[in-house]
Amino acid sequence: METTKCLIIGSGPAGYTAAIYAARADLKPVIYEGMQPGGQLTTTTEVDNFPGYPDGIDGPKMMEDLKRQAERFGTITRWGMVVGIDTNKRPFKVSIDDGTELMAETVIIATGATAKYLGLESEEKFKGGGVSACATCDGFFYKGKNVAVVGGGDTAAEEATYLANIVNKVYLIHRRDELRASKAMVNRVMKTPNIEMVWDTEVKEIVGTESGFIKSLNGAILVNRKTGKERKIDIEGFFVAIGHKPNTEIFKGKLDMDEVGYLITKPDSTATNVPGIFAAGDVQDKHYRQAITAAGTGCMAAIESERFLGEQK
Ligand code: NDP
Repeated sequence: METTKCLIIGSGPAGYTAAIYAARADLKPVIYEGMQPGGQLTTTTEVDNFPGYPDGIDGPKMMEDLKRQAERFGTITRWGMVVGIDTNKRPFKVSIDDGTELMAETVIIATGATAKYLGLESEEKFKGGGVSACATCDGFFYKGKNVAVVGGGDTAAEEATYLANIVNKVYLIHRRDELRASKAMVNRVMKTPNIEMVWDTEVKEIVGTESGFIKSLNGAILVNRKTGKERKIDIEGFFVAIGHKPNTEIFKGKLDMDEVGYLITKPDSTATNVPGIFAAGDVQDKHYRQAITAAGTGCMAAIESERFLGEQK
């Protein structure tokens, strides 16, 4: 059976950065790209906040470049999903969805997290044309315009206050009459004059125009859950902030995770509770969720993986 010194699961900025560092450390990493090669950034158009690209870069192009950079130093990239891992014994036995198995002396988990959406047909239609799940990534496009944020947690509160600095007005739409966010965040929201709270409200539909491939959102129809009354708001951006789901199904019961499923890593480290298994990027980060922070932890995981192997000798 094939044995690799370093197996990387997932191919977003965390996975590829881990691969660049592991390959340059001569670990000859094998990376399984997963269901969405390139990760969440391949669903973004312009990435304007990754340092080093003064004119911005296309999300898919950036991921292609990261992949080429990883391969330049000898990373082996493969299509396929890791579907099982035995964490009890090192090297770890790993199963792939095509039925193959391999042994890994160290594993870097970079499987990311998936943003949750409301599930409306109209929401799907305007994804990339006004509907976004990341204010830091896309807020800039709505300078001086009106936008809506849906959700009542810390992410929604944070996104609303972030957007309020850029846009004309933010409607913060929540399904209940009380935010779930921390007191400090609630205070910030309430003190921001251009955020209008829309309580007890669900989104019925997102509306806009379509001309060929060009979609442009111009409003949303809301329903008050208590009165049943409908209201239309004029907006050009619609930000969904109802939580993320970390992609950690296959590690349940094997690695320590929090109640939502985010992998728990040691402070100032990417080490999980199993020696030799590291976690990088959004799969262990519910706070920042940025490409640059994912890349940073990917680098950490590769360095820790190399050091771990050195200590085993
Ligand atoms: P949360 O799960 O905390 O909040 C999700 C919000 O979305 C809730 O208000 C929920 O409503 C609402 N919601 C869920 N599903 C739907 C739906 N289908 N339709 C409408 N509304 C819906 O997720 P967050 O991403 O906000 O936060 C995740 C974790 O990360 C939390 O622990 C949070 O504290 C932490 N975090 C911390 C930050 C910080 O400290 N700076 C920043 C961001 C996140 P309801 O309240 O009714 O359930």
